[in-house]
Amino acid sequence: MSITPLMPVYPRCDFRPVKGEGAYLIGEDGSRALDFASGIAVNILGHGHPHLTRAIQQQAATLMHVSNMYGSPQGEALAQRLVDASFADTVFFTNSGAEAVECAIKTARRYHYVNGNPERTNIITFNNAFHGRTLGTISATNQEKMRDGFEPLLPGFAYAPFDDLEAARALVDEHTAGFLVEPIQGEGGIRPASQKFLAGLRAICDEHGLLLVLDEVQCGVARTGALYAHEHYGVTPDIVASAKGIGGGFPLGACLATEEAAKGMVFGTHGSTYGGNPLAMAAGSAVLDVILEDGFMDQVAATGERLRGALEQLIPNHDDLFDHVRGKGLMLGLKMKVESRPFVAHLRDNHGLLTVAAGDNVVRILPPLNIEQHHIDECIEKLSAGARDYEYEGKPMVKAPVAK
Ligand SMILES: *Cc1c(COP(=O)(O)O)cnc(C)c1O
Repeated sequence: MSITPLMPVYPRCDFRPVKGEGAYLIGEDGSRALDFASGIAVNILGHGHPHLTRAIQQQAATLMHVSNMYGSPQGEALAQRLVDASFADTVFFTNSGAEAVECAIKTARRYHYVNGNPERTNIITFNNAFHGRTLGTISATNQEKMRDGFEPLLPGFAYAPFDDLEAARALVDEHTAGFLVEPIQGEGGIRPASQKFLAGLRAICDEHGLLLVLDEVQCGVARTGALYAHEHYGVTPDIVASAKGIGGGFPLGACLATEEAAKGMVFGTHGSTYGGNPLAMAAGSAVLDVILEDGFMDQVAATGERLRGALEQLIPNHDDLFDHVRGKGLMLGLKMKVESRPFVAHLRDNHGLLTVAAGDNVVRILPPLNIEQHHIDECIEKLSAGARDYEYEGKPMVKAPVAK
């Protein structure tokens, strides 16, 4: 038998973390790495944050899980806090991002169904989108690498180029239920939607009675310096899928919706055994305690500006490798002129810096949101050293020093 006990769907690397301390991960062999990946935008408070850890420990000892058949003081409290802090009137808790997107899609279809328009089932999504790995959410992307061999997929999706408002408009017909879009594409390569695009989708929705569904699984929960990224655009969605950072490392997701958009989601239409259990609610609540504190979001925005500035200063010295920096807050992408995946591996293996590769040859830089200046300095040192000793095909033989 040659298959590994752990199903081999991930190309796992030699770094094998066994402990986390703030913005650092410690490997099985004792090596230390600066974690500017954060479990792909999950560990927003870093590793071992005392408030989050204590909340989970105490709740685990008090009451870990009960069925959603019972009243949930813990769920009601966290839902109320999310409602108070966002556009939403109601929240469904899930265990992952894909489940939050599934709930969003179901909510959108039910809305039209109860409105007497059961033919409005189709969701328009965008090229290079990532919405998760369930059958429903892979149907919502047209990326072949995620769909190959899993067909037949769910009908009811159409795909337009990202940030192309006219192409999106052209797909709207009498079967359209709404749009599903990431305000800032994550896996697709840290691509922010333009103001014109997001505001334009809202206007098309208003004109045709469609729903604007945002996938903020990666860009939400303070990552960009606002609780949700759509706040920067001044665009109000109908439904938002949230996850990743929302549990700070505990598996938690949420589907947030307005009262109007959620009007079809009545008793019996949806459910989850674990979704919103007391342990998950304790984690989510501890994360909100920290990120909703006065000044936290401003701090994320300011830290993001400093990190971005430092990255931009690095580019002229390595302009054979780096093109530009994009993104918002602490969701940053370094666009490379060469393949980003092997460079990310080089930074990890030879310089103890963890980042994440993304589409379009981007290095994703997603640190914990509570990093300090010395973490930024260390990241820049490692990135700079990594760029200097990176061997790749087509590397210039002698690099002339750049005058400052
Ligand atoms: C990660 C991600 C998902 C899927 O989340 P899972 O928790 O892996 O199911 C969905 N949408 C976006 C934008 C993501 O980044």
